[in-house]
Amino acid sequence: LAQFGADYSTESRLAWVGEKDTPDRAAIVRRYRDLFTTSQVESAKAFYESATEEMKERARRVYFALLSMNIAEQTVEMDDRLDAKLLKAKVEIDGEKLPYYQAVSETMHEPDFERRESLFTAAEKVIADTNSLRREMLARELKVISDWGYSNFVDLVATEKLMDYKAFRSSINQLAEAITPIYIDAMGKWVSEALGREFPGIHRVHASYLRGVPKFNQYFPSERLASVADKSFAALGLRLADYPNIHLDLEDRPKKNPRAVCFTTKVPDEIHLIIKPTDTQQDYDAFFHEAGHALHFGLTDRALPLEFKEFSTSHALTEVYSYTTASIVGQPGWLEKYLEISPDKALEISRATTLVDLMMLMRYVGKLNYELDFFESPLDDKRNRALYADTLTRCSGFTYDGESYLDDMDGGLYVADYLRAWITQAMMEEYLTQEFGAAWYENKKTGQFLRELFAQGVAIENEDISRKLGYKQWDVGPLIRRYKKLIQE
Ligand SMILES: [Zn+2]
Repeated sequence: LAQFGADYSTESRLAWVGEKDTPDRAAIVRRYRDLFTTSQVESAKAFYESATEEMKERARRVYFALLSMNIAEQTVEMDDRLDAKLLKAKVEIDGEKLPYYQAVSETMHEPDFERRESLFTAAEKVIADTNSLRREMLARELKVISDWGYSNFVDLVATEKLMDYKAFRSSINQLAEAITPIYIDAMGKWVSEALGREFPGIHRVHASYLRGVPKFNQYFPSERLASVADKSFAALGLRLADYPNIHLDLEDRPKKNPRAVCFTTKVPDEIHLIIKPTDTQQDYDAFFHEAGHALHFGLTDRALPLEFKEFSTSHALTEVYSYTTASIVGQPGWLEKYLEISPDKALEISRATTLVDLMMLMRYVGKLNYELDFFESPLDDKRNRALYADTLTRCSGFTYDGESYLDDMDGGLYVADYLRAWITQAMMEEYLTQEFGAAWYENKKTGQFLRELFAQGVAIENEDISRKLGYKQWDVGPLIRRYKKLIQE
């Protein structure tokens, strides 16, 4: 099982970084298919159901790991085809042909407002061409899920991730209600100043452009990223170069997927941190984010059983760590010390970082509401296109059309895992500030505190951290306090 995971991860990674044109994950699944045949999954289920208290949690994780592979096997060939299609796709703009991922990446730093929209529209044609394949995959997946006796997709994920999505959604919507006025006000000022337009009402592509906070890019040179990160993690006692099991890939290749990622090929022995530099502040955010994952899995205790190293209940735990390390780049004191930025400018950048964080959060609020509604009637395309455009536009304030209604989903309701991490990381930041001071990001005690958490691998879950820090699960107070600072000036 561990070897299957490693081979699968390597194949995915090679395609991701642009070193392989066509991923052949299907061949790997075929090679290991004896592991997750229907009868194997049934035995794992029976074992789990009759397991002793001591073995129950491990047996539960093995069952769900096998079940998800059994389900994935049905669509892996189509998944390979989809990836190959995107890697080969060209986007045509002004008589020029760009690889799809390069075009997506260019929307982030195209300074011209209109050309940004044209680039997006051209790139979106590639997505439109993949929708029928995506729908075919979805229909196949839903059929297998129902054959396994789950009433619908959300029911399966809720059981697997031990989540009450209805209760969670209500916490998130309470949060949204509290912060929407702050968001509209602060975004309105920013959009008017940065783009000379009114907010809400501009196209969604401008959000990815703003996310790179273009006017600050000069303060975040790509060529200094590696050395600044090295110094900063060394200050925490978590220097990446000290861990030969953590491999960094910061190279730029045209076919490399622009989305930063961490591949956990074998925990803790082989971890890959991958980003594609874009020469924007986002490179720093992406690197520090993925470094949190890399350190979490790279510092996991090797003696733990496989289930507690590799089969997490959800991703909401590891995202708390990555959000915590990513938040370092937004600390005014850190900006002054590690990038030699003046105190006034550092405050301005820090405030902008908080606003970008809020902008992303509001998009995720939209995604959560959309995905939960989507799965009430997942194959009704007309309904779902409209639902996607309406929900995302309403929550984010940027204008979405329906074309990405199948593409803009991470699977397994990952969106909720991210939101759980958002909530718990805000608690973590309050806690670290209180315990280790405003400069917690360079305090060895913070490093030690995190190291002890990392060692536990994925044996614990996001909400265990909330409780450890002294908060109730899904307490949105710390997040509201963070964003309120945006209007206290
Ligand atoms: Zn992450």
